[in-house]
Amino acid sequence: MAMADPLLFNPHTYDPKHFDAETRRLLRATVDWFEARGKRRLIEDYRSRAWLADFLEFSAKEGLFATFLTPASAAGQDEGDKRWDTARIAALNEIFGFYGLDYWYAWQVTILGLGPVWQSDNAAARARAAELLAQGEVFAFGLSEKSHGADIYSTDMLLEPDGDGGFRASGSKYYIGNGNAAGLVSVFGRRTDVEGPDGYVFFAADSRHEAYHLVKNVVDSSKYVSEFRLDDYPVRAEDILHTGRAAFDAALNTVNVGKFNLCTGAIGICEHAMYEAVTHAQNRILYGRPVTAFPHVRRELTDAYVRLVGMKLFSDRAVDYFRSAGPDDRRYLLFNPMTKMKVTTEGEKVIDLMWDVIAAKGFEKDTYFAQAATEIRGLPKLEGTVHVNLALILKFMGNHLLNPADYAPVPTRLDAADDAFLFRQGPARGLGSIRFHDWRAAYDAYADVPNVARFREQADALCTFVTTAAPDEEQSRDLDLLLAVGQLFALVVHGQLILEQARLTGLEQDVLDELFAVLVRDFSGYAVELHGKDSATAEQQSWALGAVRRPVVDDARSARVWARVEALSGTYEMAP
Ligand SMILES: Cc1cc2nc3c(=O)[nH]c(=O)nc-3n(C[C@H](O)[C@H](O)[C@H](O)COP(=O)(O)OP(=O)(O)OC[C@H]3O[C@@H](n4cnc5c(N)ncnc54)[C@H](O)[C@@H]3O)c2cc1C
Repeated sequence: MAMADPLLFNPHTYDPKHFDAETRRLLRATVDWFEARGKRRLIEDYRSRAWLADFLEFSAKEGLFATFLTPASAAGQDEGDKRWDTARIAALNEIFGFYGLDYWYAWQVTILGLGPVWQSDNAAARARAAELLAQGEVFAFGLSEKSHGADIYSTDMLLEPDGDGGFRASGSKYYIGNGNAAGLVSVFGRRTDVEGPDGYVFFAADSRHEAYHLVKNVVDSSKYVSEFRLDDYPVRAEDILHTGRAAFDAALNTVNVGKFNLCTGAIGICEHAMYEAVTHAQNRILYGRPVTAFPHVRRELTDAYVRLVGMKLFSDRAVDYFRSAGPDDRRYLLFNPMTKMKVTTEGEKVIDLMWDVIAAKGFEKDTYFAQAATEIRGLPKLEGTVHVNLALILKFMGNHLLNPADYAPVPTRLDAADDAFLFRQGPARGLGSIRFHDWRAAYDAYADVPNVARFREQADALCTFVTTAAPDEEQSRDLDLLLAVGQLFALVVHGQLILEQARLTGLEQDVLDELFAVLVRDFSGYAVELHGKDSATAEQQSWALGAVRRPVVDDARSARVWARVEALSGTYEMAP
């Protein structure tokens, strides 16, 4: 068989040596479970929307979720290999994305459901959650409601005091994953007797209780995205996880932990789809030549490949900041929404580029690609939309670009540590005052790479924009304009962590150069978009056109990168 590409996950050669023995065993066992299941069955389960019972049985038997999702502090006597370790959680996300987003989703909403519990001081609830995990149960996160979308302040899940330290809860929740099966559902609501934020409550409910009514699955999928209703549900004092503002913070901080999983899920989807796409294109003969002889096909597949490599480098580096975070280093609050909106939208582009090449093949029911094309669309929209995350990212722009601070260097974090800070993140406030290390250092280290240097001109231009042509008071309420600016800023941050990770892993320069050629074009594209915005001033319009650059073309380099892409052909096909 042909050589596997070292930058992409390939089940045939996967051996995550950088992890401890038990982590390695569990990751490998998961891959083996899917390969043994086989492609036909995997696709049939997807098509028939089967519930994931067999997979969850495997997970329970191996202690997969229990080992990966019990923080050391909740593991009690049998701590063993249990810890909350973002590096290995990310590795498992990628595997789930690779085989099917439905599996990823059941695990993802389990993580969200556990968030309010692991952040709680309620020892009984923590012990119960650890026990349920050990028994192989899944969890659910009951935040969203049918009428309120992102506006979680307006919850209609109402808790009436029962005079005994507990409540009776009534109301419904909508879009709640695993609501059909969860051993514990973390539910967000508000007290009827307290006005304003002090009235919020997060509590643990049991989906098997008679006052818990499962209404339906809202979507047509193996993902069970439930609507459920509580009618006079008895919330005992020992079920209460958080009250008042802390309940609201627990909601946001849980989403902070959970949304980090979307980037690696997207990466897994793109990797599997890429093996299929390149193999198909390389073997398809039109007019006597492979489809990959067309220059535009080469360009599209090369762009898809380097975009995917960029997604991986950024996400891997973001893990380090996530794991090294603390009360005095909250840089993860920028890198985290970046993984969410930037990496997942890059995933959409990767699939689009490949689909234009493989065209009809991407519809066929015996491909993974057909589901990849559908599922990749969901990730930018969940755990906060692109808009919500981009608006969040904008809060950091001034300090990140113009006001750097000193930090000790953050090393690669693949060590077997328990990421305890994620469950004591504290109040979700003060984002505008968070400082960052100087982004220029990462760029300076690669100043000799032609397209890094070219992109750096654009990044410097963005600093000029912020100091000389920033949106005024009135424009600062025009999200349509601001989001265009946010896209430009997001590119600078994206490039920064890619470069940091390239340095840490010794990425081949050709690949880096080709990747930055894409970022140069992207920056130019977003600049032109800003130029066309309704409220853009004459000064901003002229800045925007002045920031357009052309990437540095090097045919020999592009040919070398293409050779890597071409070599993916035939390197992986899932067991039938
Ligand atoms: C498959 C699936 C699974 C899900 N699983 C869960 C789950 O397990 N638990 C759970 O609690 N929820 C879950 N959700 C709900 C999901 O988190 C919501 O979709 C999300 O809260 C956004 O709500 P909405 O889609 O109704 O959009 P809306 O909130 O109605 O937004 C409408 C538009 O306004 C924009 N907008 C809203 N607020 C802002 C803002 N502040 N700044 C800028 N733009 C804004 C949005 O970007 C969007 O374009 C799930 C949803 C789906 C589809």
